[in-house]
Amino acid sequence: MNSRANPKTVQALLKEHGIGIKKKYGQNFLIDDNILTKIVDAAAITPDDVVVEIGPGLGGLTQHLLPRAKRLVAYEIDKHLIPTLESHFGGPSFHLIHDDVLKRDLDKDIERFAPGADDVIVVANLPYYITTPILMRCLESSKRIKRMVVMMQHEVAKRITATPGIKDYNSLSIAVQYRAKATYLFKVSKSVFIPAPAVDSAVVRLDFHDTHRARVEDEAFFFAFVRAAFKQRRKTLLNNLHEFLALDKADINAQLHAEGIEGSRRADTVTLNDFIRLAEVFNDA
Ligand code: SAM
Repeated sequence: MNSRANPKTVQALLKEHGIGIKKKYGQNFLIDDNILTKIVDAAAITPDDVVVEIGPGLGGLTQHLLPRAKRLVAYEIDKHLIPTLESHFGGPSFHLIHDDVLKRDLDKDIERFAPGADDVIVVANLPYYITTPILMRCLESSKRIKRMVVMMQHEVAKRITATPGIKDYNSLSIAVQYRAKATYLFKVSKSVFIPAPAVDSAVVRLDFHDTHRARVEDEAFFFAFVRAAFKQRRKTLLNNLHEFLALDKADINAQLHAEGIEGSRRADTVTLNDFIRLAEVFNDA
């Protein structure tokens, strides 16, 4: 009954601490313990694991994470939420950082609170207004994260887990899947939040590829190449790439053909591995 995901408790905590719900911080508090347990189960946390939570809010997810983890490092931007989080969870294994997660060096914070931890699990009900920047920050700048189980808007979840031939497949799918195996886990109805968001949500699991070694020689070129290939979805690969590459159409077509990819195809039919190969070929051309 005193779960921090109980609708009455959420209202009581807001009232007791004089906290207003802040839309600008993407605050939608999860009020369903079954869903919270499903998220935490999907993270497969063992007692030796260090967990990072982004946006603990009133602590709905935190209350399920803390007993399972060795340490929990949490980032919360809203100063009004800090006292209730500190008073309820404060202890030797809980480290609350009151700051914008996008301004932090995650690996430095992990090293400070959990020295040597290099297989960290991130679990979060993400603030939706910055879902993609948070994902990309974790994927691109941390060498210590091994897995993420995160809730986001349903459409973004579809996009990052999409494979060729599915309409949601785009350059974001490639950017994420280049660094992690992305699995769509389950959909979450908007009715289990206070306040209810405008759209449904979904939980995604990202298992980071073994090392963070580059899979292409020039990552900046690779990502620019992929974005260019998808620039105008209805255009062929050949036409989109022609606008990006300083090469004749005939040369581009010949190179694509030599790699077994016809220029008349569209980017949404090309696999990640084919993109990796093509980027290497055209970077050398
Ligand atoms: N974990 C809670 C739950 O599931 O009920 C709250 C989730 S709510 C969708 C997102 C949380 O992220 C809010 O607590 C919000 O204040 C926090 N937040 C928003 N932007 C943030 C940022 N840039 N850095 C850290 N926390 C942020």
